[in-house]
Formats: sequence, C-alpha cells, structure tokens
Amino acid sequence: MAMNHETEAEEKSWQDYANCLGVDPDLFFPERGASTREAKEVCRGCVVREDCLEYALQNGEKFGIWGGMSERERRRIRRQRALARTAAAAQASNVTA
Ligand code: SF4
Repeated sequence: MAMNHETEAEEKSWQDYANCLGVDPDLFFPERGASTREAKEVCRGCVVREDCLEYALQNGEKFGIWGGMSERERRRIRRQRALARTAAAAQASNVTA
C-alpha cells in the first residue's frame, strides 16, 4: 500500500483513498481477452468506486478497469446516458411546443 505523507489539513482527492494504491497497474489494464476478475475484486472493496467510475466516464477513458467496470461496460453506461439525455431533451421540447 502506498504511503501517504499529506497532513490532515491538505486537501485529499478520491485517488488517495483508492483500494488499488500499491497494486500492480497492469492488473487494471489486462491484455485483450484476459481476465478482469482480479481487478474487479480490488474495486469491489473500494470506497471511491463511484468517483473513479465517474472520472473515467467524464474523461472518456477508453482502456482499463475503472470503478470496477471494463471498457465495454462503461461504453454501455455512456450509451444509456446519451439515450436518456436525448429522451429528456425530446420531452422538454414537447413540453415547450
Ligand atoms: S474503483 Fe478500482 S480502479 Fe478505481 S480507485 Fe477503486 S480500486 Fe482503483
């Protein structure tokens, strides 16, 4: 586990609480077709999982496991959100029409 020398007064970011601190990063960037199980196991117990996933979604991270989700799983969420935004916009334009 990575040592953190920041004082209490210094602002911490969600990364400081990551369960994967000190874990081999290669685990989170497996070769195509390789298992993601171990990485997802680390994420399962991570208290900043939501922040991590949102960061990856907001920044369009295309590779690796973030917030316990693979590229494919994150793509699905982005698609669902895009559809929801489109539906909400269509509904809003119907209301104002
Ligand atoms: S959710 Fe997973 S990848 Fe993200 S910070 Fe936590 S352990 Fe690391």
